[in-house]
Amino acid sequence: MSATPDADEYTEECTECQRETRHRVQIELKEEGGNEGTTDFSREPYRITVCSVCDTEESLRMNDA
Ligand SMILES: [Zn+2]
Repeated sequence: MSATPDADEYTEECTECQRETRHRVQIELKEEGGNEGTTDFSREPYRITVCSVCDTEESLRMNDA
């Protein structure tokens, strides 16, 4: 099958379902407070995946190696 999947839905392994399920995927920028006294906020991109079967939400920090 060569059908193009929906742009924001992916089949991925779900740790709750323990099988591959459809996930809604979105990227969110989360502001993370720096150290106390710092006005610098780093906006870290997170990849949020929500299982369409069990609704488990997982976020993965994209900058982590
Ligand atoms: Zn699931």
